[in-house]
Formats: sequence, structure tokens, C-alpha cells
Amino acid sequence: MNQITLINGDGIGPEISDAVVKIIEASGLKINWDVQSAGADVVDTEGSPLPQRVIDSVKRNKVALKAPVTTPIGKGFRSVNVQLRKSLDLYANVRPCKNLPDIKTKFSHVDIVVVRENTEDLYAGLERKVDENTAESIKLITRGASERICRFAFEYALKNNRHEVCVVTKANIMKVSDGLFLDCFRNVSKDYHDINTREILVDNLCMQLVQNPSQFDVLVLPNLYGDIVSDLCAGLIGGLGVAQGANIGDEYAVFEPVHGSAPDIQGQNKANPTALLLSAIEMLKYINKKDYAFKIKNALYKTFEQSKFTVDLGGNLSTTEFTNAIIQNLNQ
Ligand code: ATP
Repeated sequence: MNQITLINGDGIGPEISDAVVKIIEASGLKINWDVQSAGADVVDTEGSPLPQRVIDSVKRNKVALKAPVTTPIGKGFRSVNVQLRKSLDLYANVRPCKNLPDIKTKFSHVDIVVVRENTEDLYAGLERKVDENTAESIKLITRGASERICRFAFEYALKNNRHEVCVVTKANIMKVSDGLFLDCFRNVSKDYHDINTREILVDNLCMQLVQNPSQFDVLVLPNLYGDIVSDLCAGLIGGLGVAQGANIGDEYAVFEPVHGSAPDIQGQNKANPTALLLSAIEMLKYINKKDYAFKIKNALYKTFEQSKFTVDLGGNLSTTEFTNAIIQNLNQ
């Protein structure tokens, strides 16, 4: 049986994890979930929001499904998400953004995959106060990490029948750092003759995305631009409740929604499990359970086509009712 780490998180994490586990179970796929608690709830008992046992579990199982985990504020904890990505060298953050049936958005035909470099750039944490009135932060870009993420984007495009990879930089201004990222992209692209390439400046990309998003296919970006652009793309397809993601390295992969732990709706049976479910569907494809992935996706799409939505998408279904509707569609 497949053994997979389940980090059920905090806030709405346990509610949406329960929903997704039930849906996968109802699809007929047997998974042995290695459940690992993390986040605000374990700080008092274990002294850290991300105990070593969680990292060890992912290392053992190679794959994890992760619900949102809050990093407690003001206690000196490093971000749980950043720590997990660093410990497991999950260098690629992959966020597919595709329109879902019957969810009304400004644009149809959006089908973009954002591939964000996850380990360096302004997120390397190299910043300091020079004096009382001056602070500086180092934008770290290396050839190794840049070539690795560009290669990942081209490989992703090949494996997923994508036609174009577009690199996003501000290389006209940051000629050295973004210039190096662009140079790496151009070098790597020479190994992928079947994939078209495109280069765009990040400010122009943002304008184009809100005017005509369907022109884009796979985007590859350094960390900071990737963070901002992937939230913009989530907005194009209906917002946080439906935005899926994955953090992938050469050895391990952690699939997680884009949204946070949403403490404002915790315990109210209101949370939308779709973003975690779509992340789980990608995870099933990753572990080669494509039949189950398609079966669950079809049941989810059918539920939307029946105009069954949770409150965040303008519907009136609770988490439980929405989950049951998907399960019912699985069995038809
Ligand atoms: P973080 O910093 O951890 O990302 P945040 O407070 O910035 O957290 P979220 O926790 O993602 O952001 O919540 C932002 C808003 O979106 C909240 O109002 C929350 O209720 C809503 N939200 C987030 N995820 C969901 C979901 N799955 N279903 C319904 N509403 C959600």
C-alpha cells in the first residue's frame, strides 16, 4: 500500500484534510496516511511548530500532502514553510492555474503553470540594518539554482504537453542578478528544441496577465517575482479556495494549497477543501495513480457543474455537504 505523509496543519487544516482523505478513500484508492501534526498546536508540547519527526516522515515516505500550518508570530520561529522547503531541498514551487467549470471569473481559457525558484533570491534571508536609517537585503542568484529551476520548467513542459516556457525577469535593470537568471534560461533552452521560448519583463507580464492571460503557458521565475505572480494567477481562476500548489525537489515532493490556515473561519464547517483536493490530485499523478486522479477530478468538476459551491465561491454548502456531493459524484 502507498504510504504518504499527511501534515494536517492547524486552523482549517484538519477540516480540509479530513475532507480530502474521505474523498480519496471513496475513490477506492488505499493509502496508508502517516499523519504528522505541526504548527501552532504542537509548539507548547514539542517546542517547535515543525518538529524533526515531520521532516523525518517526509524523508521516509518521499511524498507528503500538507494542509496549511501557521508560523506562530513573535516567538522567534522561522517560517514553517520555508524551513520545510529548505530541509528537503524542495527547489521548485509549481502552481498550475486553470479555470474550473462554472466558477465565474473575468477570463476563460486561463491555463498557466507558474514555476517559481524556491531557495534563493531575496528570500535567502541575507539582510541587515546598516545604520539606524538604512537597511539592505541581498538578492542572491546562483547559476546552479537558476539552471536547475529552468531545466525543471522545460522538463515539466515536455512531460505535460506544454508548448512554451516564458522566463520572467527585470534583467534590464538588475543586469547582473536577473541577467544571470536569464543567461541560465537561454543556456538550458538549447537542450529543448521542441519547446518554444519567450522572455518578458515582470512589470509587462503583470499588465499582460490582467488583460490577456490565455497567451501564457509555463512561466519560470526567480523566487520573489514567482511569489507575487502566482498569487496574481490564483486570483485569475477564482481565488485562494481553489489555488493548488506543490514544492518539488529531486528526492521529495510536498503538495499543498496556496492559502493559509484561515483562522477567521476555523471550526465553522465553511472552508473550501478544493485547493487541497486539487493539490492531492496532482500528488496522485506524481505517484503514478493517474486513474484515481482523473476519477476524483471528474467528480469535483461535476460538482461545480451542478452549481454546488462552498460559501467563498458564492454557494451555500458547508465543507461536509460539499465533500459529500463530490463523493456522491464519484460513485455515479
Ligand atoms: P497566510 O499568511 O498563512 O497565508 P493569510 O491570513 O494571509 O495567511 P489565508 O489564511 O489564506 O491568508 O486567508 C485569507 C482569506 O481567505 C481569509 O479570509 C480566509 O478565510 C480565506 N480563505 C483562505 N483559504 C480558504 C479556504 N480554503 N476556504 C475558504 N476561505 C478561505
